[in-house]
Amino acid sequence: MTDALKQISLIMMLRKHGINNTRVLRAMELVSREAFVDEAFVDQAYDDTALPIACGQTISQPYIVAYMTEKLELEPDHNVLEIGTGSGYQAAILSNLCDQVCTIERYNELQKKATKAIENLGIKNVTTVIGDGWLGWPPKAPYDRIIITAAAPEPPQALLDQLKIGGRMILPLGETRETQFLVQIDKTEAGLEQKELLPVRFVPLVKGRVNPRKKNED
Ligand code: SAH
Repeated sequence: MTDALKQISLIMMLRKHGINNTRVLRAMELVSREAFVDEAFVDQAYDDTALPIACGQTISQPYIVAYMTEKLELEPDHNVLEIGTGSGYQAAILSNLCDQVCTIERYNELQKKATKAIENLGIKNVTTVIGDGWLGWPPKAPYDRIIITAAAPEPPQALLDQLKIGGRMILPLGETRETQFLVQIDKTEAGLEQKELLPVRFVPLVKGRVNPRKKNED
């Protein structure tokens, strides 16, 4: 099968599994996942599975990327924060659907690779930063939407603080891989409304920056 055909069958699979927002499907069609996958896995770039990337991390499964994106209900003027840049694929998808994306990664190596992949696609509205996602990114706050692509035991308080009233956060919550649930949190005048969406498996949202002097970590 050619890459174009693989891309089309991926979109058909997403539709079949209930992704029906046409803007989201269009974004999934526009961004080739191949550009974000390690060379060793390019032949699996359009499979609906998570794949290994550098630093022991993973690029998420396309269905989950599309599902989380759809749940964000993005508007073209939205300012969005992503925690866990990883390959940069999710950030590239988001960039097609909103005004600005800021994405935080704790590994230098991943941030560098993701920045290059995003630049190579000519995407101009994504800012990639190195830092600890638990702390969010105050310089660009407040955010209309926040998406976390690593699992936390509880929603990081700094991120709840950096979310606008009327804003939404989508994140995997859970102590272990076996008990994670994707959760939607809406911030209203009256407080936070939390809703469980579906069981998922993400790598953990680790506390703190990577120490660049430690070998094997970065
Ligand atoms: N969104 C990514 C998938 C990310 S996997 C994609 O589309 O490819 C989760 C990522 O979160 C990993 O790269 C991991 O290094 C990063 N991460 C984990 N804890 C973090 C933290 N506290 N701050 C920033 N990034 C973190």
